[in-house]
Amino acid sequence: MLTLALSKGRIFDDTLPLLKAAGIEVLEADSRALILPTNQPGVRVVLVRASDVPTYVQHGGADLGVAGLDVLLEHEAHQGGTPMLRPIDLKIARCRLSVAVRKGFDYAAAVRQGARIRVATKYTGLARQHFADKGVHVDLIKLYGSMELAPLTGLADAIVDLVSTGSTLKANDLVEVETLMPISSQLVLNPVSARLKRDALQPLLQSLRSSLQP
Ligand code: ATP
Ligand code: MG
Repeated sequence: MLTLALSKGRIFDDTLPLLKAAGIEVLEADSRALILPTNQPGVRVVLVRASDVPTYVQHGGADLGVAGLDVLLEHEAHQGGTPMLRPIDLKIARCRLSVAVRKGFDYAAAVRQGARIRVATKYTGLARQHFADKGVHVDLIKLYGSMELAPLTGLADAIVDLVSTGSTLKANDLVEVETLMPISSQLVLNPVSARLKRDALQPLLQSLRSSLQP
């Protein structure tokens, strides 16, 4: 049995058509069940929180999963351990991880002056690495949501958050001043499953790859 971990929402919605093109139809997708069968008796889907997908795959609760690069790299920044395999970039749920500040805040000057800046983010691991690479001193403030509020209330000078169209930033009088990396969702694979379930996995990966070709 192959177990695939997905998160409800955009990753689930964008992965279903890719699976379908690869010959896998997820059944009972509208039920409240957390384990969904597919049209293939040897493949099932488990629904977990987006940030839990790497944990499931790393510890073998799932053989493979779909997770945003943001979630994956942030998980690795904190957990270390055996790295998971990342065989396919699914190119769905695309956005970017960026630094944003309140309109009028001189980010370049703040960075140049070598002062400490306060950065609020859900991505403390990735933000820490980014500012360390730039040699900028930061005080990181961990948030779990509504990052846009932090610069507006004086909680932080800047945020590190996902940006897609930029309309949320704009609506909150924030401007994007730096991009850390482009983000898309990745197929992740448990390295032990990759060896032990190779015969079941190879055709699935191959069909997914060919269904992704334009
Ligand atoms: P939860 O809602 O459980 O806290 P989450 O907010 O991380 O988790 P989603 O909003 O479904 O869950 O995001 C899942 C992934 O989709 C993110 O990790 C990111 O890679 C990508 N993503 C997030 N926001 C956007 C967006 N606005 N546009 C495109 N992709 C996005
Ligand atoms: Mg969300």
